[in-house]
Amino acid sequence: MTSFSYAANPVRVVFGSLDTLGAEADRLGLGRVLLIGRPRHGDRAAAALGPRLAARFEDATMHTPVDVTERALKVVAEHDVDGVVAIGGGSATGLAKAIALRTDLPQLIVPTTYAGSELTSVLGETADGRKTTRRTPAVRPETVLYDVGLTLELPVPVSAASGLNALAHAVEARYAPDANPMTDLLAAEATKRLMAALPRIAADPSDVDARTDALRGAWLAGTCLDTVKMGLHHRLCHHLGGKFGLPHAETHAVLLPYVMAHQGLDDADDVFELAASLPIPHSLAELGLTEADIEGEPDLLRQALHGTRPA
Ligand code: NAD
Repeated sequence: MTSFSYAANPVRVVFGSLDTLGAEADRLGLGRVLLIGRPRHGDRAAAALGPRLAARFEDATMHTPVDVTERALKVVAEHDVDGVVAIGGGSATGLAKAIALRTDLPQLIVPTTYAGSELTSVLGETADGRKTTRRTPAVRPETVLYDVGLTLELPVPVSAASGLNALAHAVEARYAPDANPMTDLLAAEATKRLMAALPRIAADPSDVDARTDALRGAWLAGTCLDTVKMGLHHRLCHHLGGKFGLPHAETHAVLLPYVMAHQGLDDADDVFELAASLPIPHSLAELGLTEADIEGEPDLLRQALHGTRPA
């Protein structure tokens, strides 16, 4: 018998409409909300929150710099906030989680990319050029509200990179030492949905069915990421991302087929072909790295540097 353990993570997930944001805030008992998000979606979220909105913060930044968090915490204190709503990609979610870590405020997240951070108890923060990653239930959001309509204008290159970032979450669950029958199911379904959806989104970004598949795939993949230990793929992405300041989703997208081939996954070539067909960077060289940068690193990074078919 194979031994395993599985614990369902306590997050309420709603697929529906941003119009229910106020009702979801009420469910959490929020009456004085800090809204994190850029005007593109933030204005609609503010309208949906109505009188529950106490303050807004628009400067969420990739990799969650601590100085930005400190500025947001001042707003939290000044406005006597009792909960955080974030609408946007992983950068907005990261700031909400960083605030929750320091204040224990409840979080309601409305994701607009496929990053999946809204499902995890993982928080990466940067200070003085160094990224620190921690895993604690204190940062896991209470409620996630997905509205596929918000993703229809996500540009194709961002959609593609973010979708492969989500795929990477599912892939890691396939070789994780602590995978279990539930993550096996989640990873298989997420992989199927994301692989099928991304070419369709590239062909027609307003294809609601494809967008729905991608968002559902991202949800399932994010759940995988929260359940298993992060392995080789994330270690390499964090290592290179931190050392060279690389963009998060694009780094995942470039490395994924190479890590899959290295781990002996039989669909590595399919993922290579999928990535090759999408308008994203296809090599570490395109992300600005040189031979000198990867000297002494594993051989798979040499292949990824040049974007050659993984061996
Ligand atoms: P992002 O949040 O920075 O968004 C990328 C860009 O897309 C931004 O310019 C944003 O304004 C824009 N955008 C977002 N949604 C849009 C929409 N619907 N329409 C048009 N434009 C839109 O990037 P991301 O890839 O979503 O997230 C990356 C961040 O998330 C990184 O900081 C990464 O470390 C973090 N992350 C954390 C976890 C975790 O579990 N802790 C998991 C994945 C990613």
